[in-house]
Amino acid sequence: MDSDAKGDSMEELKGLRITPLDDDDDDGEEEELEDEVDEDDEEEEDEAVILGFLEKPENSWSLLRQQFPSKAGGIPAWLDPDNLPSKKSSRCDICGNPLQFVLQVYAPLVEKETTFHRTLFVFMCISMKCLSQDQHEQWKRHPEKQSRSVKVFRCQLPRANPFYSSEAPKGNATDKPLTPGAPLCAWCGTWKGNEFCTDCKIAQYCSSEHKAMHSSSGHKLECQQLSLSSNSSDPNACNSGIQQIRKRKVASRSLWPEFEMKNEHESEYDTDMSEDDRCTDNSLVPSNKIDYSMKSLEKYFEEDGEKNSNAVFQRQISKAPEQVLRYCRSANSKPLWPMSSGRPSKADIPRCNHCGSPLCFEFQILPQLLYFFGVKDDNESLDWATIAVYTCESSCEGVGYREEFAWVQLAPPTNFPSLPL
Ligand SMILES: [Zn+2]
Ligand SMILES: [Zn+2]
Ligand SMILES: [Zn+2]
Ligand SMILES: [Zn+2]
Repeated sequence: MDSDAKGDSMEELKGLRITPLDDDDDDGEEEELEDEVDEDDEEEEDEAVILGFLEKPENSWSLLRQQFPSKAGGIPAWLDPDNLPSKKSSRCDICGNPLQFVLQVYAPLVEKETTFHRTLFVFMCISMKCLSQDQHEQWKRHPEKQSRSVKVFRCQLPRANPFYSSEAPKGNATDKPLTPGAPLCAWCGTWKGNEFCTDCKIAQYCSSEHKAMHSSSGHKLECQQLSLSSNSSDPNACNSGIQQIRKRKVASRSLWPEFEMKNEHESEYDTDMSEDDRCTDNSLVPSNKIDYSMKSLEKYFEEDGEKNSNAVFQRQISKAPEQVLRYCRSANSKPLWPMSSGRPSKADIPRCNHCGSPLCFEFQILPQLLYFFGVKDDNESLDWATIAVYTCESSCEGVGYREEFAWVQLAPPTNFPSLPL
């Protein structure tokens, strides 16, 4: 899969700030973006878009937080491991259940010392019902507080910080963080453990829901063993119980499968790609996967009323149909909308609720992600057309995690009558 040309391009991409700690000679990157006048939505702008692709992680350590990964599924690799989002922020505002981790993007900004490390985290409720409800909420302009089922958090750290060495990680198993971080929920491995198991008083949970789930599926036996060890007078026995719990990290089986996110310039896909021979042999991904991705996208390409938006979307996405993320943080960048309906106007995007700066578009998530997550294609299952993430233009300072804004464009219903050919 790695031709020489691709190898080179990956090297070049390391200079783009999605890979950590390359602190030299990429200052010119911002200026390279073309400063062209924004004409209209019809004209596709030529911003430098970086595409995200998913791969199975090569090593057990490659997605740990000390590697500053971009990743999807599994558990988040919290950048600040201590000051995690509050219990309230960790829940779906609609049903109250803890949110599930979707993906994180490592996206430092060169212009500020305080954004030497910077990661954006996306979470959502797995209930499609909640996502439909969330639609109504996002259209309410500037309410006191929107009730969301999709949430984005931004975390940033200067180079010198209490959690990581200021030297670049070696990119192997010897890299270690400086602190163990807050204890996490023994069930979801995602959120901070706030409640102890009432029996063993060792296992911790983010919520009573997860405590109950663990208790009804496997913790009971373990709990008895832990209780014995914690009641014994031997402090080592107690410690080993805690370690046992920490090592296993996650008991839940319903997290989405974990992938490493690799980045490539969209321009890499422009060469040799005439309109007619897309999806043929020059592709870097196995053709069966392309078929599937294209299939999952077909619904955006069919309906008549959506022609304009679809044509641009289709042309752009079909250059690399396996992309799950499009990243482009610049003043002019805009999401590539699959459909013309359900797009926000300027007034629908709030200001930063911390510093009042405007929010700017930073990246969007595509529905192909659902395929990688193995989400079923039926009416009750989670589905979306795209999720566009907007972040504080000045990436304002603050300890821990700041909530940013996600705009969800919902997918058209999958059960529309099939058209006669
Ligand atoms: Zn919910
Ligand atoms: Zn939990
Ligand atoms: Zn217990
Ligand atoms: Zn701000």
